[in-house]
Amino acid sequence: TRPEYCPPDVEQLGRATWTFLHTTAAYYPEKPTSNQRVNMLTLLRSLPVLYPCSHCASHLDTNIKENPPDVSGRVALSRWLCERHNDVNSRLGKLRFDCSIEKTDERWKNGPSDGSCD
Ligand code: FAD
Repeated sequence: TRPEYCPPDVEQLGRATWTFLHTTAAYYPEKPTSNQRVNMLTLLRSLPVLYPCSHCASHLDTNIKENPPDVSGRVALSRWLCERHNDVNSRLGKLRFDCSIEKTDERWKNGPSDGSCD
């Protein structure tokens, strides 16, 4: 493993970005205001423009064009994001994640019911 002080590589940047995005989706309101929707759309649409891994950004651009973000509420957004992450997982030969709200909430909001993350 690379020392802590090194700039992030594509893997570290990806893990940090997914952590931010999935956690933000998990805490996005059930009934967002129009202002919250607009800002979430802006955040997601800015990624293909600004994400500092150009081939990742280019794949994401195509992916988002084929699958427009659903910012109508946290359940729909969490699923949409999980599916986009699964698209990357498949492309990289990684396992796909179960995109039910139970599983995404367990991973990104509540932790498992055995209390091991409390
Ligand atoms: P990650 O894929 O980073 O996942 C982190 C954790 O999220 C996992 O441990 C798991 O608990 C959970 N998780 C996994 N899948 C899901 C899901 N579908 N929904 C919810 N939670 C889930 N890398 C490349 O090499 N090429 C690319 O083109 C590329 N494009 C990317 C595009 C974007 C927008 C982002 C954010 C990252 C991209 N990456 C790309 C990085 C890649 O997705 C991984 O982050 C990186 O390979 C590290 O993988 P990992 O196995 O540690 O887990």
